[in-house]
Parts: sequence; structure tokens; C-alpha cells
Amino acid sequence: MDRVVIADIDGVLNRSGAPFPPFGWYEPRRGEDGQWGLALPTDPVRKLATFLAVLDEGPVARLRTLAEGSGAGLVLCSGWRKFVPRRLIRDALAAAGWPDPPIVAYTPVLGLAGRGDGMARRRASEIRQWLEHNRPEAWVVLDDLPLSRYLENAIQVRDGRGLEEAEIQKAYSVLIP
Ligand SMILES: [Mg+2]
Repeated sequence: MDRVVIADIDGVLNRSGAPFPPFGWYEPRRGEDGQWGLALPTDPVRKLATFLAVLDEGPVARLRTLAEGSGAGLVLCSGWRKFVPRRLIRDALAAAGWPDPPIVAYTPVLGLAGRGDGMARRRASEIRQWLEHNRPEAWVVLDDLPLSRYLENAIQVRDGRGLEEAEIQKAYSVLIP
């Protein structure tokens, strides 16, 4: 494998930085036991509409430009990979204007819950493990978590901003020195 962009979703491809689950993803439903719980939307159009609100076109377009311009594959390290069916991750990107993203892999999942520094450390371990198994020639990480203390090629997307042009330029210079 040549080049990969390892990317987060929340806080990178949207501006909310909202923790999973995104608003609107679940809908309340009464289970067989009579208890109310949260379930996936049943209507496919509504399901897709939740994505339109979830991902922002600007950051998605910037990531697309980076991937296409550098010929890099996309590896997702986002928490979405633990909960959202992969076809729907593609649907979400398509709904934000990227119909055929070159998703080549997902980093391994080493745990489910987590906050703050513990979450950053674990995500860095997941990325490190993937890198050690796959050994791409060039790689860069785009995440709103502060991963740079654990990973040399991590670029932190600023809180509440989503992926901006400055980070794309930095990522290019890491991928194509
Ligand atoms: Mg994030």
C-alpha cells in the first residue's frame, strides 16, 4: 500500500465534534418487553437525511481533494466504525457529495467507551496497530483528538471547525514530501 489518509469523522467531516451517536440517528421505539428504547430509523430516506445534517460538504470536499490529489486510500479511525454499518458510512459520505470514497480499511477496535486522554491514547494504539500490520509508504492522520503526542504524523483538526484548508496543506506535505 502506498499512501493512506487515516481519518476521523466527528469533528473532522462535520463541525459539531459531537460524540456518537449523532443527533437523529436513533429513534425512540417500544420493544417487545414494552420498554422504550432507541433504534435505527426505519425509513431509508430519513436515515439518509440524518447524514445530511451530520456531515458537512466543505470538509468532505477537502478530504476528497486530498485523497484524489495524492492518490491516497482512506482508512477510517472514527468511532463510527464501531456502530454504523459500513454501507451507511459510504451513504453518509455520498450524501455530503463524495459518492465513491476510496475506503480501503478501518483501524482495529481495541475498546468501546472512553473519554479525554484515555480515548486519544487508545485511538493512537488502534492506528499504530493498523500501521504495523499494513506498513503504508506514507500516511497521515486527521483527527480532532490530540493524537500528535502519540503519533508523529497526526494533524489535529481544530475544535468545532471541521477540516480546513490549512490542515489539508499540512497533510499534503506529509504525504508527498
Ligand atoms: Mg472526532
